[in-house]
Amino acid sequence: MSLRIFETDPEAAAKKRTGPSFTPDFRLRGGLVANGQPVALSTWAFTTEDPTIAPTFAEKFGGEVEVLDVEKGDDQRIVTETASVDVLIDGPKSLSTVMVLYGMNGPIHKCDGMYSLLEDEEGEPCGCPAGFAERKALAKKGRGPSPEIKLTFQLADAPDLGIGLYRTGSWSLVRDLPEIERELEARAGDTPIRARLKLVLVEFTTKAGMDVSYHRPVVEFI
Ligand SMILES: [Zn+2]
Repeated sequence: MSLRIFETDPEAAAKKRTGPSFTPDFRLRGGLVANGQPVALSTWAFTTEDPTIAPTFAEKFGGEVEVLDVEKGDDQRIVTETASVDVLIDGPKSLSTVMVLYGMNGPIHKCDGMYSLLEDEEGEPCGCPAGFAERKALAKKGRGPSPEIKLTFQLADAPDLGIGLYRTGSWSLVRDLPEIERELEARAGDTPIRARLKLVLVEFTTKAGMDVSYHRPVVEFI
């Protein structure tokens, strides 16, 4: 038996998702979720739902294919042994960045840092603070948007595996974006742009004397 509540109120049914719904062949990840908690990695991981291509990631980059118990998609995971992956980037359009804060029902704040990108208030000043540190602090409290950086690419060593997607909310990478965008524009042409995606260890001591270390993503152009 199926519900008939939308026959009486068709407007209440979920809207078909608009916009291009792009499904990558695989994803590159700098972290994973273990026991519901996000865990940062020191080497890259790949996930895919295609069991025919999964072993190739392990062959090329080390690691083993794990089959995850997930409800849909991306159930093959390979935590590799490399912190550096060479990629081919189509052009500047392969990189997109927005600032987003998700609520229970999707984005409740989406902007370019100054103006809203939400459908019903597009172009209006979004109200985010001007300072980088203030933005970060608000996001940490769950009251402001975080970066959502997406890069699509092919693997330089195995372009036939299809289109990969790297999605990250790294604030460190945000700082590099102006430079990365400049490079992509400058190198745009008939051939794909070669780049190296790296996870780099950052270590420092805070003013309070605390040792901090983490891995951050870096995009290098070759
Ligand atoms: Zn905003």
